[in-house]
Amino acid sequence: MEDIVCNGCSLLCDDTAAEIDNGQVRSLGLCLLGFTHLDVALKHQLSDLIDDLLGKAADLLTSAENPLVFGWSNASNEAIKEGLALTEILGGHFDSTANFGVMQSMTHTIHSLKLDTDLEYVRNNGDFIIYWGSDPAESVHRHPSRFAVLPRGDKIPEGVESRTIGVVDVRETETMKIANHRMIIPIGSDVEFLDAVIDDLEEKSSITSPVLGISAAEVIGFVSKFKKSDCTVIFYGSGILNSGNTQENLSAISRLIGAIRNSGKEAYALPMYTETNLMGVVNVANEVSSSLQRITANEFSIALIVEDDPLSVLPGPVAKALAKSTMVYVGPPGGLTDSKAAVSIHTTDMILQGSESMSRLDQVKVEFKPWKGSKQSITTSAVLKKLQQLVQKNT
Ligand code: SF4
Repeated sequence: MEDIVCNGCSLLCDDTAAEIDNGQVRSLGLCLLGFTHLDVALKHQLSDLIDDLLGKAADLLTSAENPLVFGWSNASNEAIKEGLALTEILGGHFDSTANFGVMQSMTHTIHSLKLDTDLEYVRNNGDFIIYWGSDPAESVHRHPSRFAVLPRGDKIPEGVESRTIGVVDVRETETMKIANHRMIIPIGSDVEFLDAVIDDLEEKSSITSPVLGISAAEVIGFVSKFKKSDCTVIFYGSGILNSGNTQENLSAISRLIGAIRNSGKEAYALPMYTETNLMGVVNVANEVSSSLQRITANEFSIALIVEDDPLSVLPGPVAKALAKSTMVYVGPPGGLTDSKAAVSIHTTDMILQGSESMSRLDQVKVEFKPWKGSKQSITTSAVLKKLQQLVQKNT
């Protein structure tokens, strides 16, 4: 077996291995999501007649005054850089699905307060782990087993026995089954719940009656854990990021971290999401202005979509408006956007490409490793570079 890096989710597991024998793939360390991702990638057909497709794509992009260049959630850091360069040559507008939440989180003051740490530190030190509006059992499968719940660490001698797990969500989740503290709160009430916790923690008021339907005893038990733990880590997910109240939610999370730190304890907060390289977009592209209103107003007649499926993830009215534009798709085959594009250039999935890099959800850069599965490769960054040359020739 050879070492591989899995890009099945934002955890980018680099402790995995795989081999292909008689067309059958075997793997070590991959979760079901990762294995399925690898299996599907091996069945992808890459584009042939690629020069024709590149020519058509370049002609379309050159014909637009202000094309949209969009997507990137599964692109390598190197491809994102090439995409920014292409956007500049085109005089286009660069945007990403990272703009829904993750970008807001990383550009919010919560980030400048240095509330984030890396997952290795969490494994070694985190003794109170909270999944807030995030459910790794659904999408980032190995997060609890590799880093946050099960493993032993320097200051976590007995693994799960040395940690306390809390889950705050609007419904019962799979992860709640392994939690010591389970808090189910009404949709949109995160700030109210956070404020009640902070007030009790700071001894501004004490909890004597149920909070949002949760008994006073349960909330008091939850708050007391912040006081007793040496290192609290909150993994906040779509419940915080995509609730329509993102800024207020993030401010309240940062207030909680501040209150814990003021009591002399360590505390951190990290975003949780599934898409592979949203953190790469944040790191490489920095702040990008949202184009959703402009898409809805049909301002873009041509859209280049790279390594993403916005027609499946954008809110309905935006997706409908985007589908009216002429789309050029670059990325591994599959998905609604690929099927609706006027031109699709199919590139190798990163798990098989085995080169370039992505950024893990805690911003750690992960380099992909070549292996036997990566023999034949059309990289997205090479396609984007070629498009730059063709567009320059056209103009
Ligand atoms: S947790 Fe994510 S990166 Fe790790 S093996 Fe599973 S799908 Fe792949």
